[in-house]
Amino acid sequence: MDASVRARFARLQAQVSEVARAAGRSPDEITIVAVTKKQPEEAVRAAIAAGITDIGENYLQEARAKFAALGEPLEARKHFIGHLQTNKAKAVAQVFDVVQSVDRVEAGRALARGADALGKKLRILVQVNISPTDRFGCAPPEAERLAEALRAEESLLVDGVMAIGPITQDSGEIQRAFEVAAKTFERIGGNTLSIGMSGDWREAVRCGSTMIRIGTLLFGPRPAAPLAGAEK
Ligand SMILES: *Cc1c(COP(=O)(O)O)cnc(C)c1O
Repeated sequence: MDASVRARFARLQAQVSEVARAAGRSPDEITIVAVTKKQPEEAVRAAIAAGITDIGENYLQEARAKFAALGEPLEARKHFIGHLQTNKAKAVAQVFDVVQSVDRVEAGRALARGADALGKKLRILVQVNISPTDRFGCAPPEAERLAEALRAEESLLVDGVMAIGPITQDSGEIQRAFEVAAKTFERIGGNTLSIGMSGDWREAVRCGSTMIRIGTLLFGPRPAAPLAGAEK
């Protein structure tokens, strides 16, 4: 797995540079988060060996088991990108360095309490819903108020916006959705606009993405069955 992840990462970096430059942007502005959900721990190891600095996981128990097997400290930032449940927020605050999926005040406050108890300042993004196919994320007009409420929490650093693009082949529709995310990011402020996945990172980079979250392009298709320890 090592060699193929390394080659795929190198190719992706080259392509991201090309698309960024064509859009008049510097490739240095764009971080690639390797999404290892449903992939074995070897995928995480291979990613880090390839020089990847940021790892994304969707499921708390699966991630915790994987990270424990790899041994702490992991030489990469750990991003939680799955749906954030209030009753798991404390554990998420413990396991992860960045939580990208805060879409409600209650879940954010639970995260803040968890971070506070750990004496940790947790970087978070507000997840915004820009697509009729996405079940989660706050409505764009509500994002500012959510960001403001979470900025009152000393243990949180509200650093921008995360969004998932619509499931469609229509590039124009994807771009319009990402523009909504970019406008919301402008209003909220911060350093991170996390938009773009394997199928739509080009549109995302053209719309100002500073962080693309890539699974399939780096590791191939995910195994159909969830790993042991994965939640429903
Ligand atoms: C699974 C997932 C990704 C990666 O998806 P790919 O299409 O495999 O690149 C990115 N972001 C989120 C929130 C995900 O759930």
